[in-house]
Formats: sequence, C-alpha cells, structure tokens
Amino acid sequence: MATDQTPLNTNGHDLMPRRADAVQVLTGTRSGEPIVIGARFSCASCDQTPTYVLREGAVHVQDPCPYPMGITTEITLDVPSGKLIVTDDLRDVYDVDFDAGANYGSALGKKQVIEAMAALGCAFGNVNNTCPGLYRQGANSYVIAAPVRDDNDVPSLPDEACLAEISTELWAYSIADFDDWKAKGGHPGNKLLGKYTVVDVTPGTYKFTYHGAERGFDHHAADTVVFAHIERVPTPAS
Ligand SMILES: [Zn+2]
Repeated sequence: MATDQTPLNTNGHDLMPRRADAVQVLTGTRSGEPIVIGARFSCASCDQTPTYVLREGAVHVQDPCPYPMGITTEITLDVPSGKLIVTDDLRDVYDVDFDAGANYGSALGKKQVIEAMAALGCAFGNVNNTCPGLYRQGANSYVIAAPVRDDNDVPSLPDEACLAEISTELWAYSIADFDDWKAKGGHPGNKLLGKYTVVDVTPGTYKFTYHGAERGFDHHAADTVVFAHIERVPTPAS
C-alpha cells in the first residue's frame, strides 16, 4: 500500500470539498480498486457513488456526471384565485417523501422533491437558513431572494419590494394557491412551521425557476442570493 496526493479528474461530478484539488489514493488494495480519500462519498449533483480508475498518474471517475452544471429546475403553479400563500412549510397539505429518490442533499434529490411537490400544487425549494423574501421585480414577475446590506445599511433589494418574508424553520419556501390550500384542508390553526403571508397576484399560471441546486450556487454570497425566479406564463391573446 502506498499513499500520495494525486490529481482527481472528476469527470464532471461534484466530488471535491471547497479549496481542495487533489486527493489521497490508496493503491495495492486487495480488490485492486484504488481507494480515494478526501473526496465526497457521492456526487453532490447526481448522487452517484463514483467508480475510480487510476490512469497516467491521476485518478479518474469512470463515468461522466449527467449534471455537471448542477440542475436548474422549472415547474409551473396554477394560481386561479390570484392569491398566493407564501411561507416556509405547507406539509400539512402538500407532503412528499423526501427520501423517495436521490439524497435530498444532492441537486438531483432537490429536483425530484421540487417536481413531486409541484405535482401536488406546491412550489417548493430549499433555501438553507437564509430567511429570504418574496420580492416584486415587475408587473407579473417576482424573485425569492435573500438580499444583503452594505456598510451604510442599504439593502441590495428595496425593502418596499418585499411582499412576504419567509422564516426558514424548514429551510425552504412553500408557495401555493391560497384557495387550493384551503380546499385541501389547509387551515391557519393547523398550519405547521412558520407564519404565512397571502400575496395578491394576477390570476394565471406561474413558472418557478429554482437555482439553488445549480453548480457553485452560494447561499451566502456577498450580493443578493436569488433562489428562484417567478414569472407569469403569458396566455395567448383571445
Ligand atoms: Zn455527478
């Protein structure tokens, strides 16, 4: 057995902890497969456990990552009532098994949960513990974002554009049609974590584009962190 700092060709997988670019490799193991120390056990994008091969002085992951850029997830939410309930947790009405698919910590796991929630009628996304808000951007467009304040306490998004604050006990946002939530049994007295805000919007269908599982997404960036873009899907002129 020999150990050495060896370059790792990740083949697009998200395997390296920050600030690391080489791993330690144990060779001469009984199975013949190199053992890699210092990389993640599974890819933070695709959730696969890598198979390593040694070649020309470097260790390579055998198969390429299907999501080398991470994953941008788009879903749509119907809002016929023109009223959005905006909060962190709506699992009292819209609940899915977070462990049904890939690890929720991976980009693929987040995409699967977001799509399963959307199928039930809830726009959902992980935001870590950033306490973001729903901010107006245009007439029918919004963002879920966490602004920062500069040295003069000037926020990177105007306070008056904030339509709803999202406390993050669940580390997520959950947004649904308010009447749909009530029709499915939602009740202020039964609601789970966090308070909620009802925001008036133009009735219609809204596209949510979730960015929090993109490769290199920084929850604690020095500028506004935008978790999701929200815009009304234009309806054909009648
Ligand atoms: Zn991968």
